[in-house]
Amino acid sequence: MDSSHLMDSLNSAQREAVLCTDGPVLILAGAGSGKTRVLTHRVAYLIYQKGIKPWHILAVTFTNKAATEMKDRILKLSRGAGKESWIGTFHSICARILRVEGEKLGYGKNFLIFDRDDQKRFIKNVMEDLNVSEKEFQPEAVLNAISGAKNAFVRPDEYQTIAKAPFEYAVSRVYPLYQRMLKQNNIMDFDDLLVNPLLLFQEYPTILEQYQNRFSYLLVDEFQDTNRTQYIFLKYLAGRNRNLCVVGDDDQSIYRWRGAEIENILNIENDYPDCKIFHLEQNYRSTKNILNLANSIVKNNQLRRDKTLWTEREEGDKVTVLELDDAYAEALNVVGIIKDELMAGSRDFSDFAILYRTNAQSRLLEDALRQAAIPYVIVGGVKFYERKEIKDVLAYLRLTCNPRDTVSFKRVINFPLRGIGDSSVLKLEDFADANSISLLEAAGRADEVTTISSRIRKSILEFFQLISKYASLREQFSAGELAQALVDEIGILRSFKEINTEESFLRAENVRELLLAIVNYTKTNKAATLDAFLEEVTLITDIDNWDDKSNAVTLMTLHSAKGLEFPVVFVTGLEEGLFPLSRTFDNHADLEEERRLFYVGSTRAKEKLFITWAAVRPRYGESFNNLPSRFLKEMDQSFFETRNLRRFNHYRSERASSNPDYSPSYAEIADEYAEIVMGREVKHELFGIGKILRTDGHGENMKITVRFYEAGEKRLVVKYANLEVLY
Ligand code: ATP
Ligand code: MG
Repeated sequence: MDSSHLMDSLNSAQREAVLCTDGPVLILAGAGSGKTRVLTHRVAYLIYQKGIKPWHILAVTFTNKAATEMKDRILKLSRGAGKESWIGTFHSICARILRVEGEKLGYGKNFLIFDRDDQKRFIKNVMEDLNVSEKEFQPEAVLNAISGAKNAFVRPDEYQTIAKAPFEYAVSRVYPLYQRMLKQNNIMDFDDLLVNPLLLFQEYPTILEQYQNRFSYLLVDEFQDTNRTQYIFLKYLAGRNRNLCVVGDDDQSIYRWRGAEIENILNIENDYPDCKIFHLEQNYRSTKNILNLANSIVKNNQLRRDKTLWTEREEGDKVTVLELDDAYAEALNVVGIIKDELMAGSRDFSDFAILYRTNAQSRLLEDALRQAAIPYVIVGGVKFYERKEIKDVLAYLRLTCNPRDTVSFKRVINFPLRGIGDSSVLKLEDFADANSISLLEAAGRADEVTTISSRIRKSILEFFQLISKYASLREQFSAGELAQALVDEIGILRSFKEINTEESFLRAENVRELLLAIVNYTKTNKAATLDAFLEEVTLITDIDNWDDKSNAVTLMTLHSAKGLEFPVVFVTGLEEGLFPLSRTFDNHADLEEERRLFYVGSTRAKEKLFITWAAVRPRYGESFNNLPSRFLKEMDQSFFETRNLRRFNHYRSERASSNPDYSPSYAEIADEYAEIVMGREVKHELFGIGKILRTDGHGENMKITVRFYEAGEKRLVVKYANLEVLY
């Protein structure tokens, strides 16, 4: 079969990389240089030109979205022949192998795969059996430690030898039993999917040989993000034929926090000394300005292989850095630019991507898009009000407003954990039915349900009292205060903090963002009650189903954007503490990873790139101004221009100006006065509108001096002043 259609669309470096089919190959190249394109063409070439049977080819990547795209491209190029190749994510490929071979490891054919929630429930039982206190050691933290161990290929019995602190000793007890129990129940968790094939290959050399023969050609995209187990998996499979082609960019390694080891790509010659290395240097994606700017960012990293990357594409517009007063202005301006671009013609909604560091940032952007009636989708994530932690808190609030809300009741009766299982809830439900009362009322009479153990009855009663308390406080307190107090009392922010992972940190941010949304809602709308807020939220989630998902603006975290490209890209929130995240300040390696993330984000853009930062990002936990991200200072001046849209220029908070190195931490204590800053206009019920001249103190004790346009200068205690902040 003629393969000229394959080669015509490749440059000479890409062609060479496709033609070098045998032996270990590393294609190490910068963003947008056609790595994924080479990989897909290589598969088609193997089938067409080399006559390799499609089922001897295994192609792996990381996300489902990337895998689907890869499959589509391969099918097109191979005119359908690639259908029989194995193309998928590591997890899906491994699951497929284990479905066939699992019995040899002692699993049944139809083993279950546990997701995170299942795992959580499961590990709690295990901890209980071992008398490992949930109070002392958070189940989620234990789970994370086990997951980390699995991904580093540390077996249950080996963990003991590395345990040093009390927490690790606890894990070293839980891990073996957890693993044994999973197996007894014919269950694998997500990490087992990666670990079990390794155990299989270790124990059964003949089976390994079988798979080595079966997959005579291995191809891996985004290789820089492989972790230990994934690396060993590939090493096993490539052990005989050694036709391993890995494709990646060390500058785009962004999953260290999930166990990715950038060394896998940097030191590949250790395991494959005969590895042929190809560099692709021509970028086809971005304009010169975008590409040069991105290069000027990433070259500040030390742990990297230097690369050349150039483009024949036009100069293009300079990258735009937008400086904004606050995150509201940021959202409005991003949407404003999208509108302008649309008005100018020739662009679709789907040409735009808005990227951010943390999920919590999406709320304001979502609000602004919704108000402008611009359809949007969130890739690889969930919309703000659909996130688990948000739904949990909303369920509590709903229950305080509506005692008959059975769904909410069930959602939170055992969240946080109170030891109230499904069977107790069933008994309670029967009791409620028999007496024609709501579940919540039944909870109040839990003592009458004698089929439930007295310990659990006590927990149920406590839950009832908690909800009743907040239901009765609704009259006295504003919605914002009520929500804040409730969140404090159930302690979910505390527990996220204890879990202390990137994920839990981001989830805490989401909850703070929700509290802020409620506070703002009541501020801008004096008659606003909690009920009204909840109703509005319900409406948002209901009407949010845009018909045409394919033609919509894309919102996503920078992490999800890897491998994708868009004509117009916004990278938002370039502020110290947010991007880079403050938790990375102390660790050089983490900081370099943040920088790579910025590089990944910037290189998604084909034609236009906007980078934004806001001087104030009103989040719980912040009452002072942000400093622009250090990454902005590192960028080469020649490739961008700054558009200063700040109305209140040159303001620096006292702390920031007295200490130039000071960088605020987003994890600080709650404070709802973040919007009260010098220069802001506020409205007071009696004095009318005025401008803030000075602020003293923080939080509860904050006092401000305002020059009211009519009433003159006044000094006010913010807490009692009943101010509305104007934008
Ligand atoms: P990333 O590092 O972001 O994963 P990549 O190196 O995988 O990028 P691709 O996504 O394969 O790059 O290619 C980037 C863009 O350039 C795509 O739109 C692709 O179609 C185009 N492209 C790549 N090579 C060529 C070529 N030889 N001729 C024309 N277009 C090309
Ligand atoms: Mg790619």
